[in-house]
Amino acid sequence: MRKKQQATLIDALAFAAHKHRNQRRKDVEASPYINHPIALARVLAVEAGVKDEKTLIAAILHDTVEDTETTPEELRLRFGKTIASVVAEVTDDKKLVKHRRKELQIEHAPHLSKRAKLVKLADKTCNLRDVAKSPPRGWPLRRQRAYFDWAKRVVDGLRGAHPWLEALFDDAYRARP
Ligand code: ZN
Repeated sequence: MRKKQQATLIDALAFAAHKHRNQRRKDVEASPYINHPIALARVLAVEAGVKDEKTLIAAILHDTVEDTETTPEELRLRFGKTIASVVAEVTDDKKLVKHRRKELQIEHAPHLSKRAKLVKLADKTCNLRDVAKSPPRGWPLRRQRAYFDWAKRVVDGLRGAHPWLEALFDDAYRARP
């Protein structure tokens, strides 16, 4: 009997595009949400030369549990336990208030797995680029700056994971408004 074929990056893209189909980014153009996970995968694979497929797949899926009705179990069945657990590591607990969730990201950063650190680095880099390029509607300068500073505190907790990705983050941070 043929072994069950492993889900690929393309399967993850189709899955995430479907899950995020009703969501938009916060930029003025209200871009399709899937552009964000695609941007993470691009930062990792193209800009930082990350080749590990599980990391790239986890990047594509990283917001599905937090922002859609996707369950960790669903990811485990489709993509395996390693990828599901990386996504779980970068998923905020929405039962907590926003302020606490943001604090916990800073506290948890040093303890993440290597793959989760890479996903987190790419996520923060993409988010800073997005805020610098097209601040979310209704975000005053003060809020934009606070966002940059919080992202830097998270990233400072995971330095050493991938110096090249960290340099890409630092480049993005330089555009602090
Ligand atoms: Zn994200």
